[in-house]
Amino acid sequence: MEKDMNYGSDYKYIPATSIGSGVGIEVLPDLYCHTIQIVNIILVGTADHFVLVDAGMPRSAKEIISITNERFGEHNRPKAIILTHGHFDHVGAIIDLVNHWDVPVYAHELELPYLTGKRSYPEPDSTVEGGMIAKMSPIFPNEPINLGSKVNQLPTDGTVPQMPDFQWIHTPGHSPGHVSIFREKDRALIAGDAFITVKQDSLLKVFTQKEEICGPPRYLTTDWNEAKESVIKLQKLHPSVAITGHGQPVTGETLSKGLASLVRNFDEVAVPDYGKYVDKNIH
Ligand SMILES: [Zn+2]
Ligand SMILES: [Zn+2]
Repeated sequence: MEKDMNYGSDYKYIPATSIGSGVGIEVLPDLYCHTIQIVNIILVGTADHFVLVDAGMPRSAKEIISITNERFGEHNRPKAIILTHGHFDHVGAIIDLVNHWDVPVYAHELELPYLTGKRSYPEPDSTVEGGMIAKMSPIFPNEPINLGSKVNQLPTDGTVPQMPDFQWIHTPGHSPGHVSIFREKDRALIAGDAFITVKQDSLLKVFTQKEEICGPPRYLTTDWNEAKESVIKLQKLHPSVAITGHGQPVTGETLSKGLASLVRNFDEVAVPDYGKYVDKNIH
């Protein structure tokens, strides 16, 4: 057990939920997505070899462990935890999970300062164009957690530890070291928050989780030029199925047409009209 691991001092339970909360979907036989309040965790693999991608909301460790036990058997554990990025809603249970399972964590090099207590994320932008969730965002934790020596840098060759068929793709913009994870043979994509399938700016849509392809959550996205490049990069992979950090998994035309349209209209539909991280030069 690592003694020096800690969550930031602003760590707390966030009272937000959506209609998908508590629901699990087997997207493919070895790809399972489960919604914790408003964010997705993903179990990739089979009972004899699996990993967890992302670590849910604060104080959700019990739920994540029971989801894992239910799917893969009591006392089973993932070989590793892979993080798409380090925002509070993707690392919320990670220290409890690392303590419980004693497994390594992997993240992109540029995300490590936020996972080792060195750097805080910028304050969420509650002034950004968008609705209730943005307004609520000042209560979101943004201080770094510290995983100490339990967090490792993803290999520079694009391979993902314990996920042999997958490669990681650097998709910054929403956060500096944001990665998406892609499997060439069936074009399955874990997109993190590079794009999402629910409009987080509308509280109503977070509750109802109406399916659509949207840009990254606005209040935490700090580089919109990079965010756009990242969506273009992902669209070029022509994914057949995508699991995103927020919203339902999507496949087929909903995904291909939705992504194409997001790329085409990114400046209009994804980039907010105003907000402190909006680069005036993007248009
Ligand atoms: Zn995020
Ligand atoms: Zn998120």
